[in-house]
Amino acid sequence: MIHFELKETPVLLGIVDTFECPYCLNISNWNLLRIDRHINIFFIPVIPLISASYKLNCENCLNELILRKDEIKNYKAKIEIEELFSFGNIDEFERKSRISEIDFLIENEKQCRKNIAISESVKWTESTRNKTDDELLQIYFNQRFQYNLSMIIAVKAEIDRRRLLN
Ligand SMILES: [Zn+2]
Repeated sequence: MIHFELKETPVLLGIVDTFECPYCLNISNWNLLRIDRHINIFFIPVIPLISASYKLNCENCLNELILRKDEIKNYKAKIEIEELFSFGNIDEFERKSRISEIDFLIENEKQCRKNIAISESVKWTESTRNKTDDELLQIYFNQRFQYNLSMIIAVKAEIDRRRLLN
């Protein structure tokens, strides 16, 4: 009997960013992961499947962020610049100027991601209004892993509105 198996292999490409993790709230380093997919036959990887997907994971809590296309492109470019530098193909000056160009694009993308989450958080306003103070604090501090970013933003807005942390 032939044994087929779909296998996903995460490949750690390196640290590409540092920012506050929406899950553990630490200022964390973020690793770029490439998820390779292939089909194993008799445990031998033979068929690489279409395109790999990419994720960021928080070095501190290991939670993952799914990236949009442009974000992937920018982070991959950053890894490539570091590779060129480590092989001596570009000098420190070239490296710095290219990295700062990419970082500028990355900041724009992050702002964009944040704005989307903020505009989507309005959907959750009503459900946060119906929660008790305790429930809101529970979600914000202990259960944030179970919710999406826009829900967490809505919960925080309601916590601020009720001045629960003052
Ligand atoms: Zn984290």
